[in-house]
Amino acid sequence: MSSRIPVCAPFFTGKERQYVLEAVDSGWISSAGEFIGRFERAFAALCRVRHAESCANGTVALHLLLHAWGVGPGDEVIVPSETFVATANAVLYCGAKPVFCEIDERSWVLDVDDALARVTPKTKAIIGVDLFGVVADYAALRARLAAIGRSDIKLIEDAAEAAGSTVDGRPTGSLADAAIFSFFGNKTLTTGEGGAITTDDVELGARLKFLKNHGMDSKRRYYHPELGFNYRMTNLQAAVGCAQVEAAADLCARKQRIGERYRSALAGVEGVRFAERPKNQNVVPWLHAVIDDRLPSEAARDELLARMLEQGVETRPFFVPLHTFPYFTDTSPLPRTERLAARGVCLPSGGGLTDGEVDRAVEVFLKCR
Ligand SMILES: *Cc1c(COP(=O)(O)O)cnc(C)c1O
Repeated sequence: MSSRIPVCAPFFTGKERQYVLEAVDSGWISSAGEFIGRFERAFAALCRVRHAESCANGTVALHLLLHAWGVGPGDEVIVPSETFVATANAVLYCGAKPVFCEIDERSWVLDVDDALARVTPKTKAIIGVDLFGVVADYAALRARLAAIGRSDIKLIEDAAEAAGSTVDGRPTGSLADAAIFSFFGNKTLTTGEGGAITTDDVELGARLKFLKNHGMDSKRRYYHPELGFNYRMTNLQAAVGCAQVEAAADLCARKQRIGERYRSALAGVEGVRFAERPKNQNVVPWLHAVIDDRLPSEAARDELLARMLEQGVETRPFFVPLHTFPYFTDTSPLPRTERLAARGVCLPSGGGLTDGEVDRAVEVFLKCR
């Protein structure tokens, strides 16, 4: 049997190695050095925002942002239950309460009606998650919050999975009050570990920079007027990031091409569906995800994934809905999210996949289901 197809390997386009060596040779390997500012400027330009703040990873980016906005004990933050755990953990790190909402039956991103129904006087923020690259409807959220007189609620875009996607031509990162990204090894753009916060609010940007650098006074070294964090990205990570941002158009085009190949190969297969993409979005898929409505249960889905692995095709299940975890307090059932998540399969998704590998993944999926 031919070699195993990985679920999502990073894809390097050549400059990563050169830039990392330049960073090493410069002696700047920690959180100062030329690649950090260069990466932040390039990433801000990519997202068409005024400010991008690099961070050690996406999770701390989200924590830093919530902290900067004063989210704390007694506050609630609405989060779709179908997301990576970090989205809600960052809320808990602030001492606030994640309140979980349903995802939409067809696009699988946060259900705007359901999210709005969960707004209370304690709600401080809503985190829309751009699941697998499809973008949540921030314009609708903003309009609906305005209509109920709650424009004070911050809109946060968790764009960790949606680098490169656009809505009416506007890139992710620019669609809410602020956005966070992850550059983990399997994300569309990677720095190994890394993250960023993007915003047009330059005052917020300055505050994020201060807080992530131990809260050190910019005029008086080693004077710290408030509690800060060490949430900085290193110059080595930023060097990889510079190469990835330079190649972003190619990386995103690869993801889209692979996505289209999956969609056409599985079109018309009974029970199998992809996320519906709103017409005004140009989606760069992160993981190529399908829901198989023929699967009777989560156990059956997991057996399918095990059979596929035996045939050399790595996959992932959808995220287990967060409201089912023992340490979150909002555990009210979300039947739609539970049903969808249990039947979700993420097919091999790396930007370096060949057409032959995509075809083999499809063949194995069809044979094993
Ligand atoms: C990857 C991811 C994050 C953060 O990931 P890090 O590993 O901390 O960089 C946050 N939210 C979502 C939805 C993600 O997929």
